[in-house]
Amino acid sequence: MKFSIKLVLSTMIVLALALGFSGFYFVNYVFETSLDREVGQALDESSILSFAFETAALNVPLKYSVLPDSVVEEIASKLEMGGQGGGRLLRIADEEKNILYTSSGFTSDEGLLPQTDLHTKSYRVIRAQDGFYVHTCVAINTLNRILYLETMKDVTGVFTERALGFSLYRKVTVVILLTGIVIMLFIASLLTKPIRLLTKATRKMAAGDYTYRARQVSRDELGQLTGDFNRMANALEENICKLEEEIEAREEFMGAFAHELKTPLTAIIGYADMLRSHKLDEEKSIMSANYIYTEGKRLEAMSFRLLDIIVAKQDEARLMDVPVGELFAYLREMFAEKKEMDIRFVYEEAVVQMEANLIKTVLVNLIDNACKASECSAASKADSTGVVEVTGERVDGGYRIAVRDYGIGIPEEEQAKIVKAFYMVDKSRARSKNGAGLGLALCVEILKIHRSRLQIESKEGEGSCFSFILAL
Ligand code: ADP
Repeated sequence: MKFSIKLVLSTMIVLALALGFSGFYFVNYVFETSLDREVGQALDESSILSFAFETAALNVPLKYSVLPDSVVEEIASKLEMGGQGGGRLLRIADEEKNILYTSSGFTSDEGLLPQTDLHTKSYRVIRAQDGFYVHTCVAINTLNRILYLETMKDVTGVFTERALGFSLYRKVTVVILLTGIVIMLFIASLLTKPIRLLTKATRKMAAGDYTYRARQVSRDELGQLTGDFNRMANALEENICKLEEEIEAREEFMGAFAHELKTPLTAIIGYADMLRSHKLDEEKSIMSANYIYTEGKRLEAMSFRLLDIIVAKQDEARLMDVPVGELFAYLREMFAEKKEMDIRFVYEEAVVQMEANLIKTVLVNLIDNACKASECSAASKADSTGVVEVTGERVDGGYRIAVRDYGIGIPEEEQAKIVKAFYMVDKSRARSKNGAGLGLALCVEILKIHRSRLQIESKEGEGSCFSFILAL
């Protein structure tokens, strides 16, 4: 069953119960009040009648020492006729409770007589064939006789009014409930709108539309739920995008890897085939063997790099406090042989958190690339050509190490791509310098372990600066 229908039904049940109980209480209250009033009037009338009876008995001739039955009948008949609308209903009994006089139409039994004595007035509400009556009984003490006067007052109207009241209230309740259903259906539809919108959004997302968002139509809990749902959808979309990018990157990697394998392998197979199927002179044999050796070496270097990247990806950070002086001393020594380059090391002393061997690998790669880029532009450049600056300085948030060269630079559109595995801006030039496009990909993975990022600033023809920040 729909939630809105449940809401309407439960509200209607509560409303019906409330109307039922309040209606019953109200109609019954009015009935009880009217009946009390009627009983009061019946008792008053009974008192007046007994008084009138006593007064009439005083006029009896003096010859009677006790009020005779015939006079009782006579007075009773007069009192009966004196009633409004043609007659009262009354009955007179003597001290032994024998009936002396009964009006025609007085249908009640003698049930009230035994309960009445000289000092009490008694009454009860009874049901006769043609309606409801208040039956009263009172004692009269007159002329040496005790008599009992009973009256019957018709109160059928009060009961009819109650029945009418209930019937009217039932009709009103039905009308209120029907109107209530229409209003509640409208309210329930308004209240459940956020749920409907959320359901629609969930279905759209399940069908693959991750950009669809639920419209927020209220600020209550359901509105908050919609907000949370949309935030969850944003996170989901972001993760799916990341996943798709990762899959794409993996496919690109596989394609590039296969391509990078193919080039040296083609050369190796070609030269090996030439060696085994032709009789070559010594010079050509040595040249072929040389190609096979260098291409094999390139493959070996590539496989080592790949292994390094895989290891770096899986590595946990084992960072230690290392004085940067040690790092720079190692680099200075390492590149001391490279006489054709002017590599300058300028740094501020500090103790930096790092895995020293991994950071050395990063810097060796960056300095190597800087040297290659400088050599490439050596012909066209004058003073700053051949200069590579390796600097270390304290900055906000850590210690920045940068490698700057004044070489060929990198075109802007290539800058984001060069960190991808196997990506080379100029493939033939990179290969001629034994590059495989894996160095920067390895640097990125190592820096990830250090919770750092490789930043690239470069201008084509002017040089590049590769930098990263480590924690102090
Ligand atoms: P490799 O140097 O082995 O080719 P890298 O991943 O280190 O691979 O570099 C990828 C590419 O980025 C290089 O082929 C080169 O085209 C470009 N590159 C890297 N460093 C520099 C630099 N300092 N100046 C110009 N281009 C660079």
